[in-house]
Amino acid sequence: MTALLEVDNLHMHFPVKEGIFMRSHRANRAVDGVSLHINPGETLGLVGESGCGKSTLGRCLVRLYDPTAGSIRFAGQDITHLKPRALRPLRQNIQMIFQDPMESLNARHTVGEILEEPMIIQGVGGNSSERRQRVRELLNIVGLPARSVSRYPFEFSGGQRQRIGIARAIALNPQLIICDEPVSALDVSIQSQILNLLIELQREFNLAYLFIAHDLAVVKHVSDRVAIMYLGRIVETAASETLYQNASHPYTKSLISAIPVPDPHRSHERQVLTGDVPSPIAPPGGCHFHPRCPVAEPRCGELYPDMRTVGQEHESACHLLARDKT
Ligand code: SF4
Ligand code: MG
Repeated sequence: MTALLEVDNLHMHFPVKEGIFMRSHRANRAVDGVSLHINPGETLGLVGESGCGKSTLGRCLVRLYDPTAGSIRFAGQDITHLKPRALRPLRQNIQMIFQDPMESLNARHTVGEILEEPMIIQGVGGNSSERRQRVRELLNIVGLPARSVSRYPFEFSGGQRQRIGIARAIALNPQLIICDEPVSALDVSIQSQILNLLIELQREFNLAYLFIAHDLAVVKHVSDRVAIMYLGRIVETAASETLYQNASHPYTKSLISAIPVPDPHRSHERQVLTGDVPSPIAPPGGCHFHPRCPVAEPRCGELYPDMRTVGQEHESACHLLARDKT
């Protein structure tokens, strides 16, 4: 299958300001060599703790940022450094859903205006009555009443606002949606409703998702494959099932052990992660995870482990997985 999205060795470094000087040799290496792909109609979960670079990566993919190095191909086209005018058709095909819809929805616009806006900007959707018809259709698709058209975002609950954000994202029939922690700010009961809506829309419109989350429990039910990110890099990718049953990277294992087990009789060994993600401005040498890794060896602090194949469609970056363990 030809991938819809192919990311190769992508970097997004931000210059760091120190005092009054802009020193170019220090950078926030938010995304530091990420490669991944997403097939049409597929969900790739992207999981890591806060500050690991997931949102920055997502913003690079919709080209809100201009990446420092590496490449992004969408439907075979290199979109890495497209200029704003050339990006327009792309905006139709790649959309984004944000964690806090309040931040991304214009508070002074009615829901009708919010949903019509992408069509007006792109010059699609026909005349104004056809656009309004499409707005009613979108509201119906995401399960909001037709009268929502004349209301303002603040008149809705968090879950309803996320439905508005989703309606806007699908307004132009995109092929890929970057979902940046779309349920993290919602109550657990509302989370599953929004996840189910996303799954239904995917089936109906053959959407592909990059589903960003900071814990594995959320992505478990929605992802076909999962990529684990730590300090700007992907450390493990696998089919969802494989990852949950047979994780090979020590960081992934600790994330899995943090998932609450609903059955009290099925105890599992919790491997508690201590400390925070180190700063991406001065990442630890060698394997970035070594200061927190429960099984680190002396060599881990010296050399960054390459991604290696550990099974079918399963890759992991850890020295312990090397065949030659010298
Ligand atoms: Fe831990 Fe070393 Fe593997 Fe890194 S390379 S995850 S520090 S064992
Ligand atoms: Mg984020």
